[in-house]
Amino acid sequence: MNILLRTYGGLFENEIKIDEFFIAKKVGITAAQVIRNLKILEAQNLVEYTQVNSDLSLSFLVPREDDKTVNRFSREIKQFLSLKKEKTTNFINFITNNTRCRSEQLLFYFDEKTIRKCGICDVCIAHKKIPAKNVASQIKEVLENKKQLTSNEISRLLNIFEKDILIHLQILLEEDQIIINNQNKFQLKV
Ligand SMILES: [Zn+2]
Repeated sequence: MNILLRTYGGLFENEIKIDEFFIAKKVGITAAQVIRNLKILEAQNLVEYTQVNSDLSLSFLVPREDDKTVNRFSREIKQFLSLKKEKTTNFINFITNNTRCRSEQLLFYFDEKTIRKCGICDVCIAHKKIPAKNVASQIKEVLENKKQLTSNEISRLLNIFEKDILIHLQILLEEDQIIINNQNKFQLKV
C-alpha cells in the first residue's frame, strides 16, 4: 500500500486511475496481492475500486475533510470496531493523524513489515517542500542536457539516491513536466 500513496498523490481527493502491475512491481509483491489489499480497503468503504481490463480505477468515496465523510466514516468505524478493535484504532489514526506519513500509517494498518516515509504524501511534502523543489529542478536540468535518462542514470549524475530520484520523477510525471518515452527513459515533456 506504500506505493499506492507514493505513486498517486491525489488519492485522498480525487478518483485516481491506478496500474496494479506497476504497483506490484515496485513493491515486489504480486498484482493479486495488490488487488487483495485494494479489496480490503473497499470492504471498509475507504475506497471505491473498479477494475476495468488493465486499467484500474480507484477512488475514495468522498473527500476526507468533508463533514459528511467524517460522519460516514464514523458509521463504518462503529461496525468495524465490533469486529477488530485494535485494527480500528489504527484505522482511525490513519484517517486523523496529520503528522505521520500516510504511507507509514497505511503500512502499519496492514501489518506490513517495511515501514518508511514515502516522501510524497501531503504530510511528507509539507515537511520537506524546499528540498523537493531543489531535487526536481536538478532533475529537469540534467534531462535538459542529456535529453533522455533512466532513473539510475539520473541518480548517478546527481549523486542522489535513486529511491529519492524516483519520488521526484513520480511527482514530475504527475505534474506533466516529464514523460516516459518509448525506450522507458525519462525526458522533459515538449
Ligand atoms: Zn508520506
